Amino acid sequence: MKTSPPLWFEPAPWIDGVWRTADRCGGESVTVRNPATGEAIATVGRADAETVTAAIEGADRAGRGWRAIPAAARGEILKATAAALLARRDEFARLLTAEQGKPYLQAAGEVDYAASFFQWFGEEARRVHGRIVPHPEAGREFLVEQRAAGVAGLITPWNFPLAQGAKKVAAALAAGCTAVWKPAEATPLVALALAPILAEAGLPAGVLQIVPGKGSVVGPVLAADPRVRVLSLTGSTATGSGLMAAAAPGIKRLSLELGGNAPFIILPDADLGFVTDQLVRLKMFVSGQVCVTANRIFVHADHEAELIERLATRIAGLKVGNGLADGVDAGPLIHAAASRDVQRRVEEAVATGARIVAENRSYESIPGLARENFSPPTVVADVRDSMRLASEEIFGPVIPLLSYRTLSEAVERANATPYGLAAYVYGKDLGRLRGVASALEAGIVGVNEWRPLKAEIPFGGVKQSGIGAEGGEEGIREFLETRVISIPKPGVEA
Ligand code: ADP
Repeated sequence: MKTSPPLWFEPAPWIDGVWRTADRCGGESVTVRNPATGEAIATVGRADAETVTAAIEGADRAGRGWRAIPAAARGEILKATAAALLARRDEFARLLTAEQGKPYLQAAGEVDYAASFFQWFGEEARRVHGRIVPHPEAGREFLVEQRAAGVAGLITPWNFPLAQGAKKVAAALAAGCTAVWKPAEATPLVALALAPILAEAGLPAGVLQIVPGKGSVVGPVLAADPRVRVLSLTGSTATGSGLMAAAAPGIKRLSLELGGNAPFIILPDADLGFVTDQLVRLKMFVSGQVCVTANRIFVHADHEAELIERLATRIAGLKVGNGLADGVDAGPLIHAAASRDVQRRVEEAVATGARIVAENRSYESIPGLARENFSPPTVVADVRDSMRLASEEIFGPVIPLLSYRTLSEAVERANATPYGLAAYVYGKDLGRLRGVASALEAGIVGVNEWRPLKAEIPFGGVKQSGIGAEGGEEGIREFLETRVISIPKPGVEA
């Protein structure tokens, strides 16, 4: 069994390079608990509205100095952060598991993933450039510039508390923005843990402010302050819609990564052994609390029985427990309310005709676990499109099976959702895989691949799953503004 590491930072807002301990940030605090055991890890000071405003002021002040640093040198600070994160991979992973609940190996993978964004945007920083465009009139020219937008407000969720922050922080800073980052209420520690790492890498004070706090307190301040020019949120579609409305009076730029309802289509020629392995890995990843996880599994009616049999065997063999224990495949959900919500969805589906065909409650016999926070890995068959288990994001380790007869029917049903974040297609015939992938309305499609997200590519949803992109060449553009100067062309004669 691994242990939660001693904290190397103060559990308080980080503003202008200084920890604002509880008496200087409104006095409110919240206790962060390990969801696997219920044990308290730390009591964190929450930023009140005044503290958030002070953070915005400081970020605004720091902007000029930050933009004066050459882009390549700014990039070096981000790359040094990537290296420092990897050097402290184990400490970050243990803290992440203690705070979030995911198994240690998944947490270590998240540290690598977070570092990849600091590395990528550290490299991209020096590639931001404008262009000179010919003017239709003689003797003039246009200078098209890419300029940092200003202060960015970054709001992140609890499922990938380090990586979601890294994606936004690295892109914003690479663009030359300064930023105020509000991590999720349940998982502020791993965000604060990054502050000394960034400072050691050379980040000047005030360039990144970290303000743990309530969404309903911090969000409106970020949305209303005219100095904040970009808001980037990863969260639920309801929160995104609310933030958009709050940002409307100030005409702020928005980058939103919101909810999903990913279809996972198994073509009739797919290798069901491979599919079972990939599907279980995908659904056990952060116990299904992932916006891109598979939410609706479409399987051909002729292959459903075999798939159920294979899934039942795999589910029975999973080790569910404390993520800090060795060999655990799935940890707890973030809290008991999340677990009750998943349970209700399964019960509703069963009450209206679905069947539970596999379930793993092995954690119930492990002493010392906060059992109410866990949700059993479950396979549910005979799920219909109208059930909430299929029409809404589940956010738990549940595999709902929906059977289909023809491929066109499966694609049509897969697209019949207001969401469009991720989709998966499994099979052998590359032409057909490509055809189905192209027909799916989703920001990213994994073909025979359960985790296609990487720093090198833009990730963002279509339909109600979001606006904009993270990663790739596109990610940095969320924080840049295009401006034009129309200017006389200089000649040799004075
Ligand atoms: P999840 O369901 O993943 O918790 P949420 O959308 O509730 O998604 O939370 C994502 C982030 O949005 C969290 O940091 C949360 O505190 C924040 N948040 C919640 N309400 C608001 C709000 N009104 N304005 C801005 N951010 C908010």
